Amino acid sequence: MASYTKKVKIGNIYIGGGSDIAIQSMLNVPACDIAGNVKQAKELEKAGCEIIRTAVPDLESVRLIDALKNAVNVPIVADIHFDYKIAIECAHAGVDKIRINPGNIGDEQKVKQVTDICKLKQIPIRIGVNSGSVEKRILEKYDGICAEGLVESALDHVKILEKHDFYDTVISMKASNVKLMYDAYTIASQKLDYPLHLGVTEAGTKYKGIIKSAAGIGGLLLNDIGDTIRVSLTDNPIEEIKAAKDILKAVGLKTGGVNIVSCPTCGRTKIDLITLANKVEKALENCEKDITVAVMGCVVNGPGEAKEADIGIAGGDGCAVIFKKGQILKKVSEKEVFNELIKEIEGM
Ligand code: SF4
Repeated sequence: MASYTKKVKIGNIYIGGGSDIAIQSMLNVPACDIAGNVKQAKELEKAGCEIIRTAVPDLESVRLIDALKNAVNVPIVADIHFDYKIAIECAHAGVDKIRINPGNIGDEQKVKQVTDICKLKQIPIRIGVNSGSVEKRILEKYDGICAEGLVESALDHVKILEKHDFYDTVISMKASNVKLMYDAYTIASQKLDYPLHLGVTEAGTKYKGIIKSAAGIGGLLLNDIGDTIRVSLTDNPIEEIKAAKDILKAVGLKTGGVNIVSCPTCGRTKIDLITLANKVEKALENCEKDITVAVMGCVVNGPGEAKEADIGIAGGDGCAVIFKKGQILKKVSEKEVFNELIKEIEGM
């Protein structure tokens, strides 16, 4: 739960105002491929994605909105650059949120047409500022990109919407530099009460992208900042959902599923613990039991170090003991340990 922000309704869910942190992702199939987008949206919904965003690059792509709304039950967000006409058509097509920066739309009349239809249909707007698109005026004022500049850019867009009496707004201030986005969201949380959509933009490929997102998004969430998150990875968006869930679990904002505790191994380890820990993690990936499983290298420290675990193993010399809540259950050979552990977990 984040610190106080305004509650905004997006389709059938709420973000902000103490609602659960919503996990979102973005489709990466070409906009013209309706069937491909529908298929990916269904996969994302199944994986636990709670808000799905899609790029709508032209008027022809607006038909995606209807196709996606018919295919999944999660809110659909249209990502639009500049063109107010696409925003208006997406609103008519039943989209649940629009991502557009009002300052990029152009004249006031066009902005008014967008805010009018969004008010009528109760569609919120996300202002998405990022470090690569901060206005020249602001870059000159601050002598380059900085957190204050990102926030000022977001505030300028907010003011345009407020001038049109539009307050159903969500804000993001992404940067690929973790410290920059962290500082920008921190400043914004002190100045604004609109819900914040957190993300590290262009975070990179899976491994590095998850590390950057965990540091930036996770750090902010630990400070009670943020209402919805998107982990951006150069990968299949399903990986973004897995990473987002794990970040939420790591900061204590989500429970459920198996929590694996495993030791780093040391000179006392006498079984192939690294292979075993990875095998156990993979086998329990989709297990919904809310348990902690410890995979420890040595019999002396193992059960003690993993006292908090519901079940676990501690390795010996070519063997291992299985323990439950710190009490030894049985001793098995190294060959049997994986199957025996999984069998015990299945029975829990
Ligand atoms: Fe070493 Fe045992 Fe600790 Fe693993 S549990 S790091 S093997 S002392």
